Amino acid sequence: MSIMMGLPATFNPEAYDVIVVGAGYAGAVCARKLAEACGSKVAVIERRNHIAGNAYDCEDEAGVLIHQYGPHIYHTTNDRVHEFLSRFTEWTDYQHKVLANIHGTLMPVPFNHESLKLAFGEEKGEHLYQKLVATFGENKKVPIMELRTKNDPELTEVADYVYENIFLYYTMKQWGKTPDQIDPSITGRVPIFIGDDDRYFPAAPHQGMPTEGYTRLFERLLDHDLVNVFLGVDVRDILSVKGDMVYVFDRPYGGEVIYTGQLDELFDLDLGALPYRTLDMQFETLQQDQFQPVATVNYTTTEDFTRITEFKLMTGQELPGVTTIMREYSKAYEPDSGQTPYYAILEDESQALYQSYRERVDGILNFHCVGRLAEYRYYDMDGVVASALDLSDEIINSNR
Ligand SMILES: Cc1cc2nc3c(=O)[nH]c(=O)nc-3n(C[C@H](O)[C@H](O)[C@H](O)COP(=O)(O)OP(=O)(O)OC[C@H]3O[C@@H](n4cnc5c(N)ncnc54)[C@H](O)[C@@H]3O)c2cc1C
Repeated sequence: MSIMMGLPATFNPEAYDVIVVGAGYAGAVCARKLAEACGSKVAVIERRNHIAGNAYDCEDEAGVLIHQYGPHIYHTTNDRVHEFLSRFTEWTDYQHKVLANIHGTLMPVPFNHESLKLAFGEEKGEHLYQKLVATFGENKKVPIMELRTKNDPELTEVADYVYENIFLYYTMKQWGKTPDQIDPSITGRVPIFIGDDDRYFPAAPHQGMPTEGYTRLFERLLDHDLVNVFLGVDVRDILSVKGDMVYVFDRPYGGEVIYTGQLDELFDLDLGALPYRTLDMQFETLQQDQFQPVATVNYTTTEDFTRITEFKLMTGQELPGVTTIMREYSKAYEPDSGQTPYYAILEDESQALYQSYRERVDGILNFHCVGRLAEYRYYDMDGVVASALDLSDEIINSNR
């Protein structure tokens, strides 16, 4: 493998069987699989000056390992994904826990036995908990919508509390919406957990952080003799799609193209821009051991930011006397502004626009869309790895 900045003057697309656009999970997994299984020579083109996509981590000036594009916690129920990624890293035993700051009181989310007592007081909280156990059973995750269907004023009170104090203001900040613009079907899905488990992903048998970080995982994933990575190159400067053909340097390209970027950008937004939310992430280094009790505290009733992450508590890095935290402010994404498109705004209109772009490439047999940008959807890391493994299988089988 080689990783280099820019494309050398000698770069010859014909020398590659596969061009992968993007060195995030989607692109890196396909590059590795196709090199290993088919002996394909792969060029990975990445416009940022680093690999790992949004999972990229690095040490800041204080030596704290930070996640440049927001906190990433690995968790999966998918054994195939876990086995594949575990070839490239070992894992810590980190179990993610989140607290909500509700008018100054820190309560576990999803809302659980402890949260009930903190919200309603010891006695009433316990009474409500016993009622929930009697109604739904213990160790159950129940959407607040179901609490409302019981027509019990006390259960409705719990549902209302969770809606107002955990969900409403947080969601307004995250998506820039007013209460009446929030889809009631999503509101109803907000869960509570009837039990004492305060882990955020209790159902995930595989959970933790890569022991040497995500970037190191990607270095190993891309470390294959047949894979070359070119950083700092926007693929639109060399690749285009016209009709049912892919062109590289204006010549038809017959190899496979794995595209993990935005489809609207590939066509110069000519049908319009796909809407996204972006995040303004404000990092701050403090001269103290620890800032907050857990890695993530959501601010669900106050403040303009949505949450504060403290990286050391997540990565397990031991570094006394200093810690770095990050506040996340959500805002509308402006196309072609250099901002990062983080969350696709999935509404009927935007999905229809995406489909119009997608139809232009669906008939091109050697052009494959995969990943959160190219598929215009939300994926957790494990979901995108699963999808990239499936796409690789398809291409491998079609080459046999
Ligand atoms: C704030 C935040 C927190 C998250 N937290 C978690 C979490 O805790 N756990 C979890 O499982 N998942 C989490 N995720 C999801 C996770 O980030 C994604 O699943 C994953 O990064 C998607 O990988 P990808 O390869 O599809 O996209 P990306 O990681 O975005 O990679 C795409 C790459 O393509 C490159 N590219 C795009 N266009 C071009 C072009 N024209 N030319 C060259 N290169 C191009 C981009 O620069 C980028 O590096 C989080 C996401 C966000 C936004």
